[in-house]
Amino acid sequence: MVDLSRRNFMRAKNVATPPAIRLPWVANEKSFTQGCTQCGDCIDACEEKIIIKGDGGFPEINFSAGECTFCQQCVTACKEPLFKPLDTLPWQLTIAIQANCLAKKQVHCQVCQDSCEPEAISFKYLHGSVPQPEITLIDCNGCGACVAVCPESAIKISTS
Ligand code: SF4
Ligand code: SF4
Ligand code: SF4
Repeated sequence: MVDLSRRNFMRAKNVATPPAIRLPWVANEKSFTQGCTQCGDCIDACEEKIIIKGDGGFPEINFSAGECTFCQQCVTACKEPLFKPLDTLPWQLTIAIQANCLAKKQVHCQVCQDSCEPEAISFKYLHGSVPQPEITLIDCNGCGACVAVCPESAIKISTS
């Protein structure tokens, strides 16, 4: 007999869990999960400690722990041919500020702007409102520095 409650639970889990963000310069998800031996060398190599063992034992990026400096140590440490040339873009990520952002709730906060080295986050001054954050996607390099500093965990980065 099919256990519907379990099936529904698994379905809900699949919907709720966004795809993992892999290491920078990973060529694609399929070849990564086929070729990664789960040795953990990349995890040990990352001085920022932002690589964790994720679902299924495969490494993934945890921006809640800090930012990627694009030091390439994880790529160098990996013995498998899983990566694109290092002179290409490290990854294509989508970034968005959620509704729980303090500024969107009319509380002054500009912490994320201060953490953004490429100055991709700016604040728009509007009449009758506290300044509102905006991300210029073309300037965002996906470093994730803004994620951990946000007091409301309002910045979400995901694979595009
Ligand atoms: S490039 Fe450097 S900081 Fe970024 S995940 Fe790899 S080892 Fe960590
Ligand atoms: S740090 Fe977070 S809460 Fe503060 S303005 Fe930026 S996104 Fe909003
Ligand atoms: S992820 Fe993008 S918006 Fe956030 S700090 Fe890095 S460059 Fe700036």
